[in-house]
Amino acid sequence: MSERKFNVRILKRESEVYATLRKWQRILGLNDWHIELNISMNPVTCRGEGSDHRRNFMQVSTHWQYMSATIEVDRPQLEDMSTDTPLDKHIVHELVHVLLAEAVRTDNDDDTMHEERVVTLLTKRIMELYVNTKGSYDTDTEADTNSTTYTEDRNEAD
Ligand SMILES: [Zn+2]
Repeated sequence: MSERKFNVRILKRESEVYATLRKWQRILGLNDWHIELNISMNPVTCRGEGSDHRRNFMQVSTHWQYMSATIEVDRPQLEDMSTDTPLDKHIVHELVHVLLAEAVRTDNDDDTMHEERVVTLLTKRIMELYVNTKGSYDTDTEADTNSTTYTEDRNEAD
C-alpha cells in the first residue's frame, strides 16, 4: 500500500473513532460530558495488571467531578486492525467505565478486576440490545421513520 493510501485509510479510521464516540455519547446519555479522544503512538498500558506487556487498544481516564474524560487510543493497533472491525464495542466499554466512574474506586487490583467484570458484562448487554434494535440508533432519520423506536415506547415513569 502506498504511503498516501495508508494515510487516507488511517485518517478515515480516526474519523470513524470520533463518529462512533459521538454516537454512543448520545445513546448513553453522556452529552453533558466533555469526552476527548487522544489517538496516540504512545503505548496504552493496562491498569492493574501485574505486567505491562499487554497494551490496551483503548483506555479511559475520567474526572467525574468535572464530567470530563479522555479516551486514549493506541494508534498502532488502530492501524493494524481490519477496517471492517466495528469500533462500537470498544467505545461502549470505555463509556461504561465513564458511567461507573463516580461509583467505583480502583485503588487496588481487586477493585479493578471487579470493575472490568461489571463493565464487560454491561457492554455485552448493551451491544446485544443494540444489535436487536437493528442499529436503529445509527442515524436520526432512520429512527424517525420507525414508529416504534425505543425512546417513544419508553415509559417516563420508569
Ligand atoms: Zn475496561
